Amino acid sequence: MSRANCLFCRIADRTQSADIVAEADRLIAFKDIRPQAPTHLLIVPTEHIPSIADVTDTHTVLLGQAIHLANRLARQYQLVPGGYRVVVNCGAGAGQTIWHLHWHLLGGRTMAWPPG
Ligand code: AMP
Ligand code: ZN
Repeated sequence: MSRANCLFCRIADRTQSADIVAEADRLIAFKDIRPQAPTHLLIVPTEHIPSIADVTDTHTVLLGQAIHLANRLARQYQLVPGGYRVVVNCGAGAGQTIWHLHWHLLGGRTMAWPPG
């Protein structure tokens, strides 16, 4: 898939609009268009990586940076100490619908476990 055909590449390239809340060196964060919690953000690498199953040794630092950004946004959106969830869906059976790696940051309500 080319960047032009990938929704999250297009958002990262600013050719598709989104409600962007943070930008970092290799990451962007924006509001989910169909929020599943009062706060529902997506943390997205600017590089096109189809799923978390596709990460390699070259992405090790990026993965840490994504978690640091999730934590920073959780504090910014007052999800601490109430609690928040950082989720990656990998594969259609796990609910992945966009084939560009992203972390969901969800908070602002009580979460159930196990997830559906
Ligand atoms: P997943 O199902 O884990 O692949 O997550 C994809 C997420 O992207 C879903 O929560 C969608 O609501 C969200 N989404 C789809 N299109 C957009 C968009 N244009 N802007 C922001 N979020 C989107
Ligand atoms: Zn992409």
